Formats: sequence, structure tokens, C-alpha cells
Amino acid sequence: MNNKKIYVDFDDCLCETALAFTFIADRLFGKKVPYEEVRFFNLQKSFDLTKEQYEELMIEGHRLETLLSYEETPGASRVINELIDLGHDVSIITGRPASAYDASRQWLDEHDLKRVRLYCLNKYGRDSFIKNSEFNLELEDYYKMKFDYAIEDSPMAFKFFDHLPDLKVMVFDRPWNREADLPGDNFYRCNNWKEIRERLFENN
Ligand SMILES: [Mg+2]
Repeated sequence: MNNKKIYVDFDDCLCETALAFTFIADRLFGKKVPYEEVRFFNLQKSFDLTKEQYEELMIEGHRLETLLSYEETPGASRVINELIDLGHDVSIITGRPASAYDASRQWLDEHDLKRVRLYCLNKYGRDSFIKNSEFNLELEDYYKMKFDYAIEDSPMAFKFFDHLPDLKVMVFDRPWNREADLPGDNFYRCNNWKEIRERLFENN
């Protein structure tokens, strides 16, 4: 394939964030929700937390040591490096706030992803748990970016693809997106990075 621009979400595409949150919710609040039962992208709802507990959960989940501890999703780094080696352009567009940028950058560097760019975009309007959080990618600048492929797990982020009708979106299959309607036939459900790779290379 010719040089392609590829959007990759961070949490639950590159790393197993929600799985880590199941352990944090158990440790902090004694909430035992098996990963397969994390049915809602909204973790307050999935773990049945009060507003205060949810804020505590999110603060814990965004601490440096916690962010650095997330397990890589199998195959992510290998496939992304293969794409970069072939001349494709990979950008990580995360909904994490800019306050998590340095730790997120460090995680990428430690997982052999030094060559990807990282942007924090306010995908979820989720700025309550870290007061005055900022995002380093403004919406108007995001909308000037063009992508050929996107890899995303959150149905709440699909709206960020509305302006790109030719985009092919690989929806990383997760318990919280299984009931979501995929917005168009340019959306493909993928179970793992092997399937994402096959989809990326299928016509090339
Ligand atoms: Mg995600």
C-alpha cells in the first residue's frame, strides 16, 4: 500500500487499560467485576461507583506508576513498527489529558514505540477528575488531520471520524463495544492485532 496515515487510540488498543482498572476497582473499593463484564465504556457505570469513587479511580488510573504498568496489547508494537518500516505514518490519538502525556510518552518509548507521535485530544469531555486538565491537540487542529485508517475501541469516539467518509475504522473488539452499532460499512470489528494487520494489508 502507498503511504497511509493511521490513527491509533491508546487505551485498550495499545494497552490493556480496562483490565488494569478491574484490579484497581477491586483494590480500592472491593468491586469485583470480571473483565468480560465491563459492559459500559463509562467505568462509573460498569463498576457501579459513586461519583467520588469514580474520581478516585480515575486519579489512581492516571498516576505515573499506574500508567507505566499497563500491559501491552499483544502484537501492537510489532505491527506498528512493521507499518512504520514500510513508510506509513502512525499517530497515537489518545483521550488522556495532557497531564498524562509524559507518562504516556514514556510507556511508548519503553514498548519500542519511540517513532510514533502522540497527541492528547479531548474525546470524552472528561475533564472533571483532573481539574483544569488540558489537551495538547485542539479540535480544530485535529480536524485538519487526515487519516486513511483508524484503530479505536470506544463508540464514544466514533464521532471523530464523521468528517472522513473514506476512512477505514478497525474497531478493537471489547466487551463495552459489542452491543454498539457500527456507524457504517467502513467499520470493521477486529479481535486482535493479527486481524488488524490482515485488514490493513488485505488489498495490498
Ligand atoms: Mg481506547
